[in-house]
Order: sequence, then structure tokens, then C-alpha cells
Amino acid sequence: MEQVTEKNSESNNSSAATMTNINLDRALCRIAPIHKGVVEVLRYPKRVVTVTFPIEMDDSSVQVFKGFRVVHNRTLGPGKGGIRFHPDVDLNEVSAMAALMTWKCALIEVPFGGAKGGVICDAKKLSSHELRRITRRFISELGDNIGPYTDIPSPDLYTNEQTMSWVFDTYDVMHSGNNNRAVVTGKPVSLGGSVGRREATGRGVCYAARHFIAKGMVQGLSSLNGATVAIQGFGNVGAVVAEQMQCMGAKVIAVSDSQGGIIDDAGLDLAQVTAYKREHGSLIGLPGTMSATNDALLEVDCDVLVPAALSHQICTHNAERIKAKLIVEAANGPISPEGDRMLAGKGIQVLPDILANAGGVTVSYFEWVQNLENQQWELNEVNEKLLKKINKAVDVSVERLKLLAADECKLPEDDHGYPLDLRTASLVIALEKLVTVTEQRGIWP
Ligand code: NAD
Repeated sequence: MEQVTEKNSESNNSSAATMTNINLDRALCRIAPIHKGVVEVLRYPKRVVTVTFPIEMDDSSVQVFKGFRVVHNRTLGPGKGGIRFHPDVDLNEVSAMAALMTWKCALIEVPFGGAKGGVICDAKKLSSHELRRITRRFISELGDNIGPYTDIPSPDLYTNEQTMSWVFDTYDVMHSGNNNRAVVTGKPVSLGGSVGRREATGRGVCYAARHFIAKGMVQGLSSLNGATVAIQGFGNVGAVVAEQMQCMGAKVIAVSDSQGGIIDDAGLDLAQVTAYKREHGSLIGLPGTMSATNDALLEVDCDVLVPAALSHQICTHNAERIKAKLIVEAANGPISPEGDRMLAGKGIQVLPDILANAGGVTVSYFEWVQNLENQQWELNEVNEKLLKKINKAVDVSVERLKLLAADECKLPEDDHGYPLDLRTASLVIALEKLVTVTEQRGIWP
């Protein structure tokens, strides 16, 4: 009989929503009581759009695709969040990711609500022409559900600057005569993208990790300089994390992509890794490195582990075997609540997604502002502003964690199910802001 592991059970459709609710409850029990109705507002998405559309494929066959766009909350501003193209896209996960965007925007203090979207497709098996047709048709089906002041998409798994160009172009054709650049972020710089946006998520991950370590929050690790690092995922985010961490003095000893990972305890030559991946379409087989499965990569003996690919990667099935001192969630939702509990038990620190990968939406906000004002900022201006925002978010989250820890003994026994951690402290800050603004605005009408 097949053994049902937590990974199996957590990869089903409801697990993402369950994770969001558990994490929400972990924070709610640590803040002043909120009106029940307001809690419900925070728990459920504001708007869910599902579209189904036909695409003529390169071989002239017709295939039907399904896509979603969810706006979780718009209390702080227009919806903001990525569009992903992946076979595992499902409405529950997209909704959970939209909620995470709401918390992230509130914590990092950008005037957006949370949104997310996706199309069920295997981008790796589609031609560029097919991807263009899918993107255009998806965006045209969404119609006025997206817009510079309503809901603003950005790149995510298996979407990139090219995809965002098609998103912009489609919307622009449908709304000609306006300055439509602010409808989407993560565009190429020549099309109104911000310099530094492509690297922003990875750069923010590294800024957050460096600052968190410097505050003495990771036992046995005083700096990224000299630290050993393993990274799952070598895409837009993972590759930039590797490069930036190396610039900060870390030794990147393992990286992976969808086909598996490579390890070199002496430290990988990242230029070689990138060139090999470009030539062979995979990392596996790079001379001088040892191959590893994706599961094994997560269990590598290192100081810092950076999941930068999919969600549900560290759960009960493997949390016990993780050896890193610090896990930095570059991906969204890579650790389950049970995983959090087990990691805390082992004394492993987690820098949560809400904080660690907020650099992407931060520079997306900078891009949106530049588009509305017809401006183009310099790279150092973008990076300085990003650094300031990330460091501040780390500071306030750590401060809140310490305050909450002092109060922890006052909680009723039932609420102690999950340990207090930085994820909860960051979410507490985000929720308090959302509740305050919801009350200030009042329930309409
Ligand atoms: P990407 O498509 O550029 O890269 C994804 C990478 O993950 C690729 O290297 C792919 O080979 C790898 N991958 C896929 N399946 C894998 C598996 N089973 N095991 C190991 N690796 C696997 O996507 P990205 O933009 O780098 O996004 C990565 C993560 O970061 C996602 O969780 C995304 O939600 C999150 N994120 C991205 C941004 C952004 O600005 N792009 C912002 C915040 C969070």
C-alpha cells in the first residue's frame, strides 16, 4: 500500500488554503481581539475570476487552457501579485498566494492589496508563439479586472519580462490612448520597467538575510561572509540570490533546478553553472560537481538554505533532516506550519516569505510610481530605497518578535499549538495595519 506522506497530502488542492488559515490563526491569537466579521474579510478573497479559453497550437490543434486571477484584499490599494504558468496552478493555491501578497504589502508598506494569478500549463513544453497567444488571450479574458488602479500583475514562476511585455501590449491595445505602463510591473526597462526590478526579489532576499544575521538572530552564524549556502531553484530569484550572496562573501555550495541539483563543497563557479545550464538546459553533469536529487539538496549540510522554487518543500517528511542554521524563504510558501514547528524544535531560524522575498513587490511599487510619473530612476536610487525598506521590515519584525515572546506566557494553553516565530511576528504587524485601515475606512456602504 502506498504510504501517504505529508508532502503528498500537503500538495493537494486544499493544503495551500489550510496553510494560510493556520498561519493567520497563529497571528490572530497573538493580537487584540478583532471583530469576527473583519477576520472573515481577511480570511476570504475579495474577487475570484476563472477563465477558460482555446488556443491554436503550433501544430494547428486547438487546446483549452484554464486561468485564474484572485484579488484577496484591496484595503491598502490596488491588487498586486504575480502571474505564474505551471501545471500545478490551482485556485486554492492562487488564493493562498493572493492572501500572502496582502500581508506582504502591508508589512513592507507599499500601497497595494494582495492578488495572484496563473494559467495551468507547462511553459517548458510550449513554444514562444504559444506562450504569447496564451498570455494575450488570458489578459484579454481578464478584461478590466486588471488595470493600473485595480489590479497590477507581475512575473512569477515561469513568467518573465517577455510575458509582462505581452501583458502590457494586450492591455494597451484594449485601452489605447492612455498611459497604460502602470498596468503591469517587471517589464523590460525599454518598455518602462524599473532598473533593478529583475534582480529585486533575489537582492531583497540577500539584504534581509544579511541584516537578520547581523542582528545576532542566528545561533552560530555571525555573517553571510564565509557562510555556506544551498539554493533550491536557479531561475529569476534563485540565480540572483546565488550571485548576490557570493558578492556578500558567502560560498554557494549547492544549487538545483526542476531536474535536480549539483553540489561542490569547495564552492560553485557561478559563471560556469550559468553557462552550463544555458548550453545543456540542466545543471546536472557540470564537471567537478556531484549530482543530487532535489530532496537531497534541501538536506545538504550548509549554514543557509534558500528555497527559491515551489511551495510545500519542507514539511514533516523532511524537516527533521534539514541541517541549515537559517532558512530564507525566497519562494512563496516553501515550509508548511508543521515544518515550522519541527524546524523551531531543532533551533533552525526561518526568515519567512512575507519578509524575505518582499523585495520584488517593493521594486514593483517603485516601477509603478515611475510609470505614473513618467520617470526613470537610477539603479543606486532603486537599490538604496529597497535596502531601507527591507532593513526596516526586518527591524520591526524582530522587535515585535521580542515583544510577543515576552507576552507568550499569557496566552491560553490552546493557542500554543504552534511556536512563536518571525513569520507570526511579521504577520501580526501586517494584520494590525490592515485592521486599523479597515476600521478607518469603515464597512461600505
Ligand atoms: P522562475 O520560473 O524564474 O524559476 C523557477 C526555478 O525553479 C527554475 O530554476 C526551475 O527549474 C526551478 N524548479 C521548478 N521546479 C522545481 C523543483 N521541483 N525542484 C527544484 N527546482 C525547481 O521563477 P522565479 O520568478 O524565480 O520564482 C521562484 C519562486 O520565487 C516562486 O515561489 C515565486 O512565487 C517566488 N517569488 C518570485 C518573485 C519574482 O519577482 N519573480 C517575487 C516573490 C516571490
